[in-house]
Amino acid sequence: MIKGYKAQILNIYEKIREEELNLSKERRKEIIEKLPDVIEIEKQISRLSIELSLSSFKPIKNRDLYISKLREEINDLRIKRSELLVCNGYPMDYLNLHYRCTKCKDTGFIGTTPCSCYKEKLAEIYYNSSDLKSVLERESFDNFNFDLFSKERSDNYPSSPRKNLENIVENCMIFINSFQSNKDNILFYGTPGTGKTFLTHCIAKALLDSGFLVVYRTANSLINDLRKIRLEHDSNLEDLLLNCDLLIIDDLGTEQITNFTLTELFNLINEKLLREKKMLISTNFTLDEILKTYSDRITSRLLGNFTVHNFYGNDIRIKNNLDKKNIALK
Ligand SMILES: [Zn+2]
Repeated sequence: MIKGYKAQILNIYEKIREEELNLSKERRKEIIEKLPDVIEIEKQISRLSIELSLSSFKPIKNRDLYISKLREEINDLRIKRSELLVCNGYPMDYLNLHYRCTKCKDTGFIGTTPCSCYKEKLAEIYYNSSDLKSVLERESFDNFNFDLFSKERSDNYPSSPRKNLENIVENCMIFINSFQSNKDNILFYGTPGTGKTFLTHCIAKALLDSGFLVVYRTANSLINDLRKIRLEHDSNLEDLLLNCDLLIIDDLGTEQITNFTLTELFNLINEKLLREKKMLISTNFTLDEILKTYSDRITSRLLGNFTVHNFYGNDIRIKNNLDKKNIALK
């Protein structure tokens, strides 16, 4: 797991428990004021409970009878306490600690196994660090509209934009469904407005929902991160970029190309390949432009280690605006 995440989650649990402890103190204060009899009964219950636990160390005649009487007495008092609370409009567990998760009692673990609520919290932290939280509320495979893509094949291409995209989506579904076991990296390239970014969002959401750590960066923001890592030695950020399950680099080619960006970009891509940590890169460049813009070291990694998908067709954003009735890509 990424450094710092476990501590972050344990901290969340600590806060939950602290908050609940304070709330329960408030509830007790209220009952002390309004129903002092309930508190009196509680005191009797705890006195008898202590007696019960001490009984095994003391010589007692008719021990069994003594113990069963004590238990009965405690039970009666508990019933009396519940009745008093309920008759006065309170739930009978009003004075107990109210766990958000009764399975792990807000510790996050059942024994040494992480509870289901722990996994939910981790997924939430993943969502937050993906940088995509708000986008993914709107964009997913559920609202992917193939109708926006033309069924007409033009001479330069082997299939229509729609057929082409259907093939790409099918491949991406295989990538998602075999994410744990595959070692694939994906490169989307092609003309703007042909669904690349939308599809990267869909993939990000599907994987985040399956509990994988997906980090999304535009090429520009990635370069800013790389600068932070080099100049400010931000090791948490470096750890996140290197060790996330999928790093998405959107709009490669829009960043400023300098010696620094070329070197750092190569180092990152190379290091991730060595660690077998997957990447999804999208660019509006043609293959030619990629070759011309980036060093041989980068392009050989991109073209040699990535499954390459070419996006083509008319700009669907323009089509979308023209054909309002057909809006599905919101
Ligand atoms: Zn739990």
